[in-house]
Amino acid sequence: MDEGLHTKVSHDEVDTKHQGAVNIPIYQNSLFAFENHESFDQAMQDVLSANVYSRGNNPTVQYLESKIADLEAAERARCFASGMAAITGSLHALLRSGDHVISVNQAYGPTRQFLDELSERYRVEVTYVDGCLLSDFEDALRPNTRLIYLESPTSGLFQLQDLEGVAALARRTGVFTMIDSSWATPCFQRPITLGIDLVLHSMSKYFSGHSDCLGGVVAGRADLINEIASKGYMLFGGVMTPHTASLMIRGLRTLPLRMERHQRNGLIVAEYLENHPLVNRVNHPGLPSHPQHALARKQLDGFGSLFSFETQVSVESLKKWAGALRYFRIGVSWGGFESLVTVGHTPTSRNMAGNNPSVARLYIGLEDPRTLIEDIEQAWRQVIEA
Ligand SMILES: *Cc1c(COP(=O)(O)O)cnc(C)c1O
Repeated sequence: MDEGLHTKVSHDEVDTKHQGAVNIPIYQNSLFAFENHESFDQAMQDVLSANVYSRGNNPTVQYLESKIADLEAAERARCFASGMAAITGSLHALLRSGDHVISVNQAYGPTRQFLDELSERYRVEVTYVDGCLLSDFEDALRPNTRLIYLESPTSGLFQLQDLEGVAALARRTGVFTMIDSSWATPCFQRPITLGIDLVLHSMSKYFSGHSDCLGGVVAGRADLINEIASKGYMLFGGVMTPHTASLMIRGLRTLPLRMERHQRNGLIVAEYLENHPLVNRVNHPGLPSHPQHALARKQLDGFGSLFSFETQVSVESLKKWAGALRYFRIGVSWGGFESLVTVGHTPTSRNMAGNNPSVARLYIGLEDPRTLIEDIEQAWRQVIEA
């Protein structure tokens, strides 16, 4: 990870408007009033930047957006009420009836569902591809292809796409590229520097980091972000509240620190599982056994701590094992302080189950990894002895 990120999240420009407060205050207001009608008219000319109404702009949210744009090497960013609000708002703003989209088939389940909605209701054509090979995208291109939608790594089987390769292909053919980069965060992956047009995150995960709020963001070129802001953001109205923005700013301060720890903990537990006799395979891009490990090393600066593994035991036994864990909670989502486990129920479980139904997904939190390994051991013993 670039050490400079620690400074970027910790240091702010001195803002004299706030009496020396080291954090930007929560601007808990819906509207902004003006001294005279002239300045109001002026603001109304530029509703994408001026503070007029908090569905458009709010200084606390704007501050967070500028921090994220900086981290992603983007011109501009926009925060939304959730990751899905960012994804659906962006897709809806950029796609027209008759457009064609190429999407990775392991995209987050609700994202796929939304693409299917667009296809059924608004005649947007969608082709799903595996995405591990560049030729998957090349072969799927059509004259009306407008967007290539990526998620790298995917959050069920943790497959990667060659971001530089896809970006170059898209540029040659005048197609937009968009990536869900929630797993890696800007600490470990900066897709815009590789030529991708738009980066999305579910901020409910690592950004928040404390399992206490929902949010999403899209970052990229100013003209594209403004297009999304004036359509998917302003019109759908799924905006981030100033209160949530302040929680996200708090999360951001320690994001690089937490990611270093998540990476370390995740790899320790993944390596342990890889050597376990009941485990067939561990899907973690940071392991040399991952089929795309070389690509992972090339385009990632580090690794998130969410991964899956496949076992020889039955799904029923695996569920019993999950239930016997004391430190891993059973639940969806990830990115917080607490370790989590699910068996067969990830957002992409349709694809996971196709391969091998005995798949568990683990999220490694901030606990001592030795405790987590002991916990996994004691739970295996209970299941095997039963
Ligand atoms: C959780 C998640 C989302 C959706 O984000 P929400 O904040 O829950 O709306 C999108 N993509 C991935 C990879 C996710 O894990």
